[in-house]
Amino acid sequence: MPDQIDPARLRALDRAHVWHPYGPMPGRQEPLVVESASGVRLRLAEPAHGRTELVDGMSSWWSAVHGYNHPVLNEAARDQLDRMSHVMFGGLTHEPAVRLATRLVEITPEPLQHVFLADSGSVSVEVAVKMCLQYWRSAGRPAKRRLLTWRGGYHGDTWQPMSVCDPEGGMHELWSGSLPRQVFADAPPDGFDAEPDEAYARHLRELVASHADELAAVIVEPVVQGAGGMRFHSPAYLRVLREACDEHDVLLVFDEIATGFGRTGQLFAAGHAGVSPDVMCVGKALTGGYLTLAATLCTSRVAEGISSGDVPVLAHGPTFMGNPLASAVACASVDLLLGQDWELEVKRIGAGLRRGLAEAAGVPGVRDVRVLGAIGVVQLDHEVDMAAATRAAVREGVWLRPFRDLVYTMPPYVTGDDDVARICRAVCAAAKEG
Ligand SMILES: *Cc1c(COP(=O)(O)O)cnc(C)c1O
Repeated sequence: MPDQIDPARLRALDRAHVWHPYGPMPGRQEPLVVESASGVRLRLAEPAHGRTELVDGMSSWWSAVHGYNHPVLNEAARDQLDRMSHVMFGGLTHEPAVRLATRLVEITPEPLQHVFLADSGSVSVEVAVKMCLQYWRSAGRPAKRRLLTWRGGYHGDTWQPMSVCDPEGGMHELWSGSLPRQVFADAPPDGFDAEPDEAYARHLRELVASHADELAAVIVEPVVQGAGGMRFHSPAYLRVLREACDEHDVLLVFDEIATGFGRTGQLFAAGHAGVSPDVMCVGKALTGGYLTLAATLCTSRVAEGISSGDVPVLAHGPTFMGNPLASAVACASVDLLLGQDWELEVKRIGAGLRRGLAEAAGVPGVRDVRVLGAIGVVQLDHEVDMAAATRAAVREGVWLRPFRDLVYTMPPYVTGDDDVARICRAVCAAAKEG
């Protein structure tokens, strides 16, 4: 073990040398130093606002659904480490990757039969887009190379994903001039339970129909738009998209990187609508938050289309494709999830969030409070003061990361009722202070 760096020096080195997400260099906000984590608690290297332990309300950005330092996942990692941490995937294969791919095929909608293992969510979206474009090129229709999405989405930070993120007010607005120009529908009307809006459905159908000749695919986050604004919409619009895509020869891609593995109350959000996409991306909770891994699944029609073209290969192959360590932990995480009554846990957390966040509705400056699955959102009528909101949450002993006009939480599924209540108190305090 190397000598430990004391926290103050660590913060100084961090500030001097290390980029943080969406941050300037040097960083403006001082990050908290986490020394270790277990269960739903992050242990800090030095006290912050009187706290040395924080209940994690973020699941490390949707990923740590089983909490930290889980004995089953630790064992899976250790066991795989003793065999091999990594081996190239070109010309070689191994049990962890094959097992994981087979498992994903089993638990996702039936038409999805083939799996490309990618090393991050953004890369899995790049692969999804490449699959769709190449499918049409192989079919002799190379003009079909644009994408359609609805506003308010988020699909990652690399180039193609950025081109289908919300074009306004988002993190990628800066690049709008140099990104591929995609077709944008209006954002879906709010409300998971809302009666589907017929005019909006017509808008989607018309847009798909009028651009069909140049569209390779429609790509959306089903049911929950995450980092683009934490908005929920009716599953009915997914059925509208499926029908329109079928009618006009356009592929349908669901980005389930945030919504997958039970977060919305269905194993995959597509389940709310009872429709299957042609291509689907998963990531985030895939390894239970242990290691970076994502996957792009596609139907046999897409795979066969690509593989019978004049360039009959999918030209993509990350160095760490199918990483055995990440795949082994992912298998263990999926088994852990399916081996328990995860639906009950997600419902329990959802009920706790509804109870605990109800009081936020009366707070001045709060525009909306909404809960779906194990996701709780308080939307303000102004931009949140991130520093003040985070400080308020830390005082309550909770880790939150508000953004834009949102204070939100998606706790690990193992969060106990008392800790869910504590997270809710922190969200309310953050909404007041922020
Ligand atoms: C996080 C996210 C991504 C990007 O995944 P990374 O692993 O951060 O590259 C893409 N799509 C959605 C819906 C996401 O929530």
